[in-house]
Amino acid sequence: MKRKDNRLKIKERRSEEREKKQLKLIPLGGLNEIGKNITVLEYQNDMMLVDCGMSFPDDEMYGIDIVLPDFAYLIKNRAKLRGMILTHGHEDHIGAIPYLLQELSLPIYGTRLTLGLVENKLREHGITGDLRTITAGEVVNIGLFRIEAIRTTHSIADSLCLSIDTPVGKIFHTGDFKIDYTPVDGEPIDFRRLAEIGRDGVLLMLADSTNAERKGYTASEKVVGMTLENIFRGSDSRIIIASFSSNVHRVQKIIDTAVMFGRRVAVSGRSMINVLNLAIELGYVKIPAGVLVDVNKIRHIPDKELVVITTGSQGEPMSALARMADNDHKAVQIKKGDMVILSASPIPGNERTVSNVVNKLFEKGADVIYSDIADIHVSGHACEEELKLIHMLIKPKYFMPVHGEYRHLHRHAVIAEGIGMDPANIFILENGQVLNLTPNRVNISREEIPAAPVFVDGLGVGDVGNIVLRDRRLLSESGLIIVAATLEKSTGEIVSGPDIISRGFVYVRENEDLIESARVAAEQCLAKCSKNSVRDRAAMKTAIREELRNFIYLKTRRNPVILPVFMEI
Ligand SMILES: [Zn+2]
Ligand SMILES: [Zn+2]
Repeated sequence: MKRKDNRLKIKERRSEEREKKQLKLIPLGGLNEIGKNITVLEYQNDMMLVDCGMSFPDDEMYGIDIVLPDFAYLIKNRAKLRGMILTHGHEDHIGAIPYLLQELSLPIYGTRLTLGLVENKLREHGITGDLRTITAGEVVNIGLFRIEAIRTTHSIADSLCLSIDTPVGKIFHTGDFKIDYTPVDGEPIDFRRLAEIGRDGVLLMLADSTNAERKGYTASEKVVGMTLENIFRGSDSRIIIASFSSNVHRVQKIIDTAVMFGRRVAVSGRSMINVLNLAIELGYVKIPAGVLVDVNKIRHIPDKELVVITTGSQGEPMSALARMADNDHKAVQIKKGDMVILSASPIPGNERTVSNVVNKLFEKGADVIYSDIADIHVSGHACEEELKLIHMLIKPKYFMPVHGEYRHLHRHAVIAEGIGMDPANIFILENGQVLNLTPNRVNISREEIPAAPVFVDGLGVGDVGNIVLRDRRLLSESGLIIVAATLEKSTGEIVSGPDIISRGFVYVRENEDLIESARVAAEQCLAKCSKNSVRDRAAMKTAIREELRNFIYLKTRRNPVILPVFMEI
């Protein structure tokens, strides 16, 4: 018996030892969603992060401004957290940084443009951070992790993929990427370095899955440039172009094309102006003197000599382009003959708002060109053939698709299998799951880390949860009915009321009968409570709620939120 005990103990100790020597990789966001990318790497007493992004709310999240990852695990382990490295400057990779820095501090590594965008963001929040600039090709140490930053191509300049040396082996993270052989800045992916890394042996690869469902290759940014030239060549109209402000290469191309055709450039929209200023300051965008013109001073410039670059390519209601479409823009009024170009595709979920803006622009007589009818936009993410190329170069032993909804992750796994990867070596995780890695074994742990979305509404972070959202949804669907009554404190007798107040339910003036009969029903319900000696206020409220819910459903087939309110005197 005793010997058995000993053997068990030895076994336990061995498994503890093994656990100590394994790397934990935890996606806190970015899986089964496009947004809030953040990945934790943890080995014993050292922890690092790759990216710290936010996501935008979907239509069901009433009143929510943005969505953050859950930082609870990071706050709990703050003493271990050695730093963060950023792959690039898109919101879904940097947007949550100001909120994390309000909880803890850590060094943040990134390229110049990425950190420039982070700095702008921190300034808006009135905070500072420990930002450390790196360049592609450089190696940095974060705790015991050694990270090589490698140039890649994406829809924002200065993007990186990462080769991370850990005690259990090399982990390769593609970041967001596409393979552009002819990028605007002339700096393609460092393929030779990728091949060397692959040859040295990669334990695990994490790779962008956004476009895994698309066959073939993503076109080069150069294609957009050629389309733009063709449009400019054939046009005497004023040209207004909406694009993502962060796509500084696209913005540069628009400016170059304008210069080529003797047009001056005005810029509209706060984020476009901010990012452009930053990009000019850091040397990512170059504009010849005399080309830029204040958007408020364009009146005297002939149409065929002007281009307006603006925000609003996603139809965002407050954006400059949406205001132009609504006749609500101070400097730019859309008129017949204007040429409007939407140099972006709607992000899934934004199709309707984009379509609204396009319709309004056409109604005002503008000629609108968008990505369905011309090559005016190319994606920043790799399609199937590009993904295959990366897999072939890196040749990882294990693979984890990231950055995508479940269908994208699944499709990426199928692609990897198709080029010979053992399906047992592919891991599709959920946010908060833990991947355990040793040099020769990888498995999904039973451990789960909290990773539910955290909602930001106004100044509140995390104070709006699912119950509040459910109420907001109910209110938005059928409105609200308040039953107000004044009761005598000791006896519970009605002193005055009940009165019915409603919002968003029916138009009261046209439904006086309905409201009056609801009032009578509430009154009878209270009388019944008093007859049956029900004095408990909560029980009385429940009775009213039930009574009115049935009554109103019977009359209207609607389910408004019913809120009994008692005043006691
Ligand atoms: Zn990106
Ligand atoms: Zn991204």
